[in-house]
Order: sequence, then structure tokens, then C-alpha cells
Amino acid sequence: MVYVNPHFLELPGSYLFSDIAHRVAQYQEAHPAARLIRLGIGDVTLPLPAAAVAAMHRAVDDLARSETFHGYGPEQGYRFLIDAIVEHDFRRRGLDVGPDEVFVSDGAKSDTGNFGELLSADCRIAVADPVYPVYVDSNVMAGRAGTLGPDGRWSRIVYLPCTAEGGFKPDLPDERVDVVYLCSPNNPTGVALTRDELKRWVDYALANEVLLLFDAAYEAFVRHDDVPHSVYEIDGARDCAVEFRSFSKTAGFTGVRCGYTVVPRCLKVRGADGRHVALTPLWNRRQCTKFNGASYITQRGAEAIYTPEGQRQVREHIDYYLANARLLREGAARAGLEAYGGEDSPYVWLRTPEGCGSWAFFDRLLADAGLVTTPGVGFGPCGEGYVRLTAFNTHEATAEAVERLATL
Ligand code: PLP
Repeated sequence: MVYVNPHFLELPGSYLFSDIAHRVAQYQEAHPAARLIRLGIGDVTLPLPAAAVAAMHRAVDDLARSETFHGYGPEQGYRFLIDAIVEHDFRRRGLDVGPDEVFVSDGAKSDTGNFGELLSADCRIAVADPVYPVYVDSNVMAGRAGTLGPDGRWSRIVYLPCTAEGGFKPDLPDERVDVVYLCSPNNPTGVALTRDELKRWVDYALANEVLLLFDAAYEAFVRHDDVPHSVYEIDGARDCAVEFRSFSKTAGFTGVRCGYTVVPRCLKVRGADGRHVALTPLWNRRQCTKFNGASYITQRGAEAIYTPEGQRQVREHIDYYLANARLLREGAARAGLEAYGGEDSPYVWLRTPEGCGSWAFFDRLLADAGLVTTPGVGFGPCGEGYVRLTAFNTHEATAEAVERLATL
């Protein structure tokens, strides 16, 4: 007899984006002439930076000749990419990250979803509410979440409400937890932790033997000086934090697939007998067993974004999206709506009008303005009363979306 992992059966269906697609399709069927503007899904639209494209073409040519052919690469990533990451993302910022602490992957979704494999099944985890759903669902699969309550919350997960009163930033848990997922700049709220706020988390983690899983997938959008690009800008973070990075939003790699995870050598958790166990060798072991490396072509493309022209092109792309975010934020405010985030992030978190729920406002924006958004409640109960707008459409479409908001 074969028994299934029962925890997979505990997972509710992931209906958010299919519900949205369904409502949009229904609307389009009823209004075939309507021109919808999509501000819903968190995917980039600009083509790849030219430097990455050229590097990937060259990489294909390498694979076409026996002298430069590459088969299986190192599971941890090629040194040419790791060295570029270490130099540009860390050493130039004065941060101590070594090449043997960087693990290149096919993206931050896999790494944030897989990292829990290193941790015991009875760890208590804490997540922000609203939250990027991967952190929660991967812990449900691991049997760490308990049971799902009618309020949409799992009994063994500690939720850290992110509300307008707290600037949409999570506060320290008031009960014992072992692991905290932090995402800054945040998806979905679009706000980012300042250096002082992140320091509070690092100090708390060090004082309480808590592991921070820091998702910096939107790091490239940071523009304010007091917002850290890396958790390792905070003293002591190497002893308590893993950092996840992604080339998806940085360089338009959502379809190419590449990211990396930093696991500092000094970072330790406890074995069952209470002794300290380093996580770097365990993550290395996990990756060597289950992952065969990102493709050579992909890694050459990622390396190219660290060249001077690659850096310039990436900056232009991010600035383009940030300009859209600003249009959305300011346009929403002019339309009398409360808008948050969008300054160090491609996401704008829009409060729904008084008495209007996330889905009701989603429907209204669709029907009255032809705008596709994402209902905040899809990211957790505290997202009720908000919708998420993304800055990934074109300037022209974003500007038109703002005009439509004004006529609501
Ligand atoms: N982390 C956050 C917070 C995200 O919003 C996303 C994608 O939307 C990811 C990770 C996934 O990134 P990747 O494309 O590198 O898998």
C-alpha cells in the first residue's frame, strides 16, 4: 500500500490567481471591446538587459564547440558567477561574504521553499501576514504548520500582522518561535525595513537563538539610504540569518531562472543533542543531492549583469518600474485612495474604500476601470481591505491606469 504525504492533502487549493483569471475572462467575454490594463501579476515585462542577452548568445556558442563545451557544472554555481556576486553584491558594500557561502540556484522560490528541509519538523515558524505564500505552503508540506483554522491561519504558525498602524511592518513575536521569514522590500505590501528596524530583528534573533530567513528578492529596487540591501549590513546577521536573492526582478530573469542563497559559515543551529550544527555544509549537501546547478547559459547571462554596461541596463530597467510605482502611488492618492509602498519596491498596497472588501474592490476596479489587480486578502487575512498593484506594466499603460483611477 502506498500512502501519500498527508500534509499535501491539508493544503487548500491555490485559487488566488485562477480566481482572478476566471473573473477577468468572464468580464472580457461580457465586454469584448474593453481594453484591460494588468497590474496584477508580479512578472516583469521589459526584455532582458542587452548585456545578458549577448552573454547568453556567447554561452550558446561555447556549448557548440568541443573546446568550450560545458556539461554538468558545479552544483553550487560556477566560480565566475559566484565571484561576481561576492564582489558586487557584498564586498563593494563592505560586507563579508565568501565564495563558499554563496549557492547559485534556479531562483528564490525554490530556495525559500526548500530551505526548511534543513530544519526539524517541530520548529515553530513565524511569518508576516500578509505574506508571500511559498513560506507558508512549504512548511505545511513539511508538516510544520498544524491545522488550518476557519480564519485561514495554521495553528502552529505564528502570524505577525502587518497593518497600517504598524506601517505594514511585522513586529517581534510575543511568543517563542525558532524561525522567522522576513521579506524586505516586501511582497505584497511594497514597504521595506529600515536599518534600525532590521537591526531590531537581528538583535532579537541573536538573543533568542532564532533563525532569520531573509528574502531580498526585491533588493535591486532599494533607493533609500536607510534601507539595507542585505541583512548582512547589520552587525551579527552572519550568526543568525540566511539571505535569498533573485535575478528575476533585478534583471528580468523570471523566465530565465536564476538566484542565489547565502548561508554564512558561522551560522549554526542545534542538533537533537543540543550541540551546534553549521548550516552551510548541510545546504551544500542538500543542493548536491537534489539540484544539478543552474545552466551554464543562464549563469553567463547572470554574470553579465555585473559588468558596467549590465549594471547600467539593470538600473535603467528598475528605474523604469520605480517610475511606474511612483505614478501609481501618486495617482492613487490624487484619486483619494490611500496608497503605501512602491518607493523601494515595484508593489503598491492600496487601501480599499471604507466598507469595501479586497474582492469587492477588485471587481469594482475591473468593471469600472478595466484594471486587473490582486486582492490583498489572497496573501493572508491581514491583506483584507487592500489590493496590490504592480509597477511592471509599461509607462503608457500605467499612466492610463492612473487616469482611469481618477475617474472612478
Ligand atoms: N520571493 C518573493 C518575495 C517573491 O515575490 C518572488 C516572486 O515573485 C520570489 C521570491 C521568487 O523569485 P524567483 O523568480 O527567483 O523564484
